[in-house]
Amino acid sequence: MPEKTILIIGAGMAGLSAGCYAQMNGYRSQIFELHTIPGGLCTSWRRKDYVFDGSIRYLSGTDPQTKIHELWMELGLLEGRTFHYYDEFIRYEGADGRIFTLYTNIDRLEQHMLELAPDDKAVTAEFIKALRQFTKMEMPVDLTPSEPLEALELGQGMLPVLWPALWWRNVSVRQFAERFKDPLLRAALPDFFQFAPPDFPMMLLLTTIALMNDHEAGYPIGGSLRLAEDLARRYLALGGEIHYKSRVAKILVEDDRAVGVRLEDGSEYRADIVISAADGHSTIFELLEGRYVNQRIRTYYRRLPVAKSILQISLGVNRDFSQEPPALNFPLPHPIYLGNVRHERLVVKHYSFDPTMAPPGKSVLSVWCEADYDYWKSMRAYPQHYRAAKELVAQQVITALDERFPGLREAVEVVDVATPITYERYTANWRGAFAGWALTTRKMSMMMGGGMRKMLPGLHNFYMIGQWVEPGGNVELSVASGRDVLKDICAADAKPFVTDSFLKSSRFIR
Ligand SMILES: Cc1cc2nc3c(=O)[nH]c(=O)nc-3n(C[C@H](O)[C@H](O)[C@H](O)COP(=O)(O)OP(=O)(O)OC[C@H]3O[C@@H](n4cnc5c(N)ncnc54)[C@H](O)[C@@H]3O)c2cc1C
Repeated sequence: MPEKTILIIGAGMAGLSAGCYAQMNGYRSQIFELHTIPGGLCTSWRRKDYVFDGSIRYLSGTDPQTKIHELWMELGLLEGRTFHYYDEFIRYEGADGRIFTLYTNIDRLEQHMLELAPDDKAVTAEFIKALRQFTKMEMPVDLTPSEPLEALELGQGMLPVLWPALWWRNVSVRQFAERFKDPLLRAALPDFFQFAPPDFPMMLLLTTIALMNDHEAGYPIGGSLRLAEDLARRYLALGGEIHYKSRVAKILVEDDRAVGVRLEDGSEYRADIVISAADGHSTIFELLEGRYVNQRIRTYYRRLPVAKSILQISLGVNRDFSQEPPALNFPLPHPIYLGNVRHERLVVKHYSFDPTMAPPGKSVLSVWCEADYDYWKSMRAYPQHYRAAKELVAQQVITALDERFPGLREAVEVVDVATPITYERYTANWRGAFAGWALTTRKMSMMMGGGMRKMLPGLHNFYMIGQWVEPGGNVELSVASGRDVLKDICAADAKPFVTDSFLKSSRFIR
């Protein structure tokens, strides 16, 4: 039988992953990507001597004992890659000068919290107990187990934390933090995840710290784009083909079957199966013209909150920040408006633990903050205003940093501002969203129940993957969803799903 063909829209981490597993399983695949490089949101960019990173602060699955590690091994993404593990993830400066440090070592964190707030001993004990429970959780690779054995493995991974997970997924960080008497802890905990919605679930906070405590999550030296480029190289080595500067304008459908894609330039490509790893909203409502939706999907896209739009202000500075905390959340002496959004605090991160980001003795600083998509969209209509607005926010951030780190202004060598429109332009994500759906306690239940459906009602030979299907906003979920879809496709074709590591060890391959 001739090889079946698959067309994939988007060379982000999900699309590249699907492509790799398609090739491993004997399908002939091609990827169409609107940008000139792979990675989508998982990206970095060079400005003079500096590299600014737009994504990964930590990646899960760095410990060989974990299931996610298998995913990276199958894709060959760990070869020659080293990781930085944070001792402290973020430092939070209170308005009164007191400091809460989110240490990644749970014992140290416990001691620090007890010293800071002895009156909160009982709540701290509850928090620390939950963290220790979560260190026993095993994140699955198989997002939707298709066989009893996989379901059993998933169950075994969750079993030690089943009750804590069921409990903590419904408790928001904000609710929990309110139980602390100490105002610093009350304010700091909900700010641990930037851009978290008010009902951001405790379960994600607990999982993240637990992963870091065990060195199961770290920062990949070399940054996000390198990881994406390695995945793209792997895909090409497996025989796949990537078409860059190829924006898909329409998914071709005949008799309710996806049969190919039409690009913006009018050229058409046909295949047996189409997978969209692109933005969910544009896939459903533009590329498919809203023809394959039901009430449930409409409600998702009308009602569920989407991740906030953000501004990223990156600076290359002639100053060594290696002795500063990797991330610092500090109060501003006076609130500032960046665009039209009021900020009372800023979070500044440095990358001095990664020598590939800046020349020796110099540093990259990065400030991510909430932004209003509509404001930036209206500015974009007038290029001069847009440029001026970007310049203004850069200067405001530099002023704020200069007040916190005196003399910084003179050390700034390179400035770069990415707005929600930048995210939209380079990744086509809906309203410049930086992470698909916002993570809420409700969404947590959805994730634990297997995410959103990969197929649309009434449309055959078509699948969706990536961050709009697997809410979570992280690289491993997007990559795992690319793997997951190929398992489904193999199952539909009644053939075993194989991975390259299996093929290499297989007696059928010499
Ligand atoms: C500021 C920030 C911080 C983050 N921090 C972390 C972190 O610490 N750890 C972590 O694991 N993850 C982090 N992430 C999340 C991670 O980067 C994303 O979850 C992941 O990269 C999403 O991958 P994806 O393939 O699902 O989607 P995308 O990256 O959005 O990929 C979609 C791709 O499709 C392409 N495309 C869209 N429409 C079309 C079209 N019509 N035709 C052709 N191509 C199209 C886009 O150009 C893009 O390449 C962060 C992200 C951001 C922005």
